[in-house]
This record gives sequence, C-alpha cells and structure tokens, in this order.
Amino acid sequence: MTTAAVPHTDPPRTAMLEVADLSLTVRRGQDRKPILASVSLTCAKGEIVGLVGESGSGKSMTLRTAVGLTPANAEVSGQVHVSGREMLGASPKDLAEVRSRTASMIFQDPRAHINPFQRIGTFLTEVLRLHQGLSKSEAGRTAAALLAEVGLPDPDRHLRQYPHELSGGMLQRVMIAAALASEPELLLADEPTTALDVTTQAEIMSILLRLRRDRGLSIVLVTHDLDLAVAVCDRIHVMYAGSIVEANSATELARAPRHPYTAALFAARPAPDRAELHAVSGRPLGLYEVKGGCAFAPRCPQAIGHCHDTAPQTREGDGHRVTCHLPADPAEPAALAPGLTKGERR
Ligand code: SF4
Repeated sequence: MTTAAVPHTDPPRTAMLEVADLSLTVRRGQDRKPILASVSLTCAKGEIVGLVGESGSGKSMTLRTAVGLTPANAEVSGQVHVSGREMLGASPKDLAEVRSRTASMIFQDPRAHINPFQRIGTFLTEVLRLHQGLSKSEAGRTAAALLAEVGLPDPDRHLRQYPHELSGGMLQRVMIAAALASEPELLLADEPTTALDVTTQAEIMSILLRLRRDRGLSIVLVTHDLDLAVAVCDRIHVMYAGSIVEANSATELARAPRHPYTAALFAARPAPDRAELHAVSGRPLGLYEVKGGCAFAPRCPQAIGHCHDTAPQTREGDGHRVTCHLPADPAEPAALAPGLTKGERR
C-alpha cells in the first residue's frame, strides 16, 4: 500500500495584533486633519515587528490608536484586533481590560510616566495590586522579582529609591517591569531606547529580546533607528505621512529596499565607509498637507510626472508590500497613471 506524502506546512501563528485599513482624522472646529490612512499590519505571537519612519509619520499614533488611546476629537475607522478582541468601538471598560491584561506599552521618556515623588516600590506595587489583585506583601515580592528579571542589580534597594536616584536606563527597566506587571502577551514599545546612550540602548534591547524568548512576548517596536529595527525585528513596516509605504521581512528590506523612501532612509544612515551623509532632502509632510498624488513626491528623486497628481496603488506578494508607481522589478516599466497610454507617460 502506498500513502500519499503529506506536505509539511507550518501551523498558522496566532495574530496578537491585527490592524486593518486603520484611518484616523482629528477634528478642530470645522477643520478636519487626516493623520493616518489605511494602515494595515499584523504582529504574530512571539514576533517582533518594527514600525520605522521619521518623526510625525504616524508610528506612535498607530500604536496608541491600536489600544484605544486616541485623542477625544479623533474619528477612527478600520479594524483593530488585539488577541482577537475588536478594539475600535469597544467600551472604555473593555479597552482598559485589554490594556491591563493583554497589551502593555512602554514609552520613550520614562521620567514623563512615573511620579517623581513616589518611591519605585510604591509605583510598582500599586501597578501589581491593580492588575493582579495581589496583597501588599505579595506585590512587594513580585516587584523585586520583576526588577531582577529586567536586570537591575539590587532590587530591594531600588524599590526604596525615588526616580531621580536612577539613571535613564535603570528607569526604563523599571518601566519595562511595570509593563510586565499585567503579564501581557503583547508589548507596544514606543521609541524605548531613543533617549538612551548606545550601550544602555543595547542592554534594553537585549532585555526585550530575552522577554520575547522566555515569555513568548509579541513586540511592536516603534523606532526611527533603521539599524536597530533591522537587527532585532522579524518584519519591518516603513511609515510616511500616516501610511505604510513598504513592509517586508527585516532581512529582505535591508537587502533590497524597493520604495524610494525606504532606500533614502537606508542611504541616510552614517557608515564608516561613507564620506558624507545623504540626508533625505526636504521636510516630511503630514498626511493633512498632501494635496493629491504620492505624499513622498516632493522629496522623491525617482518621481515621475503622474506621481504628483495620482496616488500610487499598493502591490503585495511574497510577504512584501509596497505603495509606489515604480515597478517591483526595475526592468519593468513604471506604472502608468489611470487613463494614460504608454506614449502619454508624463
Ligand atoms: Fe517616488 Fe513616485 Fe514612488 Fe512616490 S510613487 S515614492 S513619488 S516614484
């Protein structure tokens, strides 16, 4: 008897974060400012996904919107699921429950998120009692264990200290410990190393990588540091003017960036073998400043005529996604604006 070979396929990975077609507009009186447009991304269980781009591109707003931390005057559309739970339109109670049990955030400046008049121990035990309902003594023991887990050398002493007695790197570890207090499955890290020196940055990232390995955490990392994202992320999404313009595995994105903005970001990195830096010319636009066409067109060295008046479509395949008129294969001709024939290329 012969048996047919069963093809091996990896089991599908559970998506911890699914953002689909997310758009956000802020109202000011009669004025309406679009901030995000059709943002889509996923982060599977145990995956580290990077969100990179210049300041103001919408990275942090995407993270905050995903967990319901939107401005009061915001209009949001699309779909966001955290561990399968719909976030848009959820009640404040349900949003708070997801934030306290499933998804935690860490921020760029820990000093802005911790009471300077409160001891570290008081801060952490309050968080633990709130999220886990622990007694005061249990919360104290757990707080010390969390500080040890994030690599602080003397947890009992640090619990008695005030924030100003700790360096920026130590305080960021405290914030990571606080984020772990709810035993989350998803960590949203918003520029967690931007304010730190390069050695401390490496220490914080190695802590996050260890937490991913030991706790199976999924991590969405917002950063403007492309090298950091390539080094630690499985996949990277590049944002510009409130939209994702390219997404790919970190290795493929670094090997062959297809979107001119991604290529420009890579070219702008300092490197020992480069005599000069290639800054991306011009200034980044907010989505609300884009009057039609491709948002990157005013800065794009490869812009063709219709880039300025026709928004490019998104193409997707083999895990890669890019929004640009230029062809995926440089040997192909660039895409034409709708309604134009080849001889009419602008
Ligand atoms: Fe440049 Fe045109 Fe592509 Fe926009 S659509 S990134 S302007 S080539």
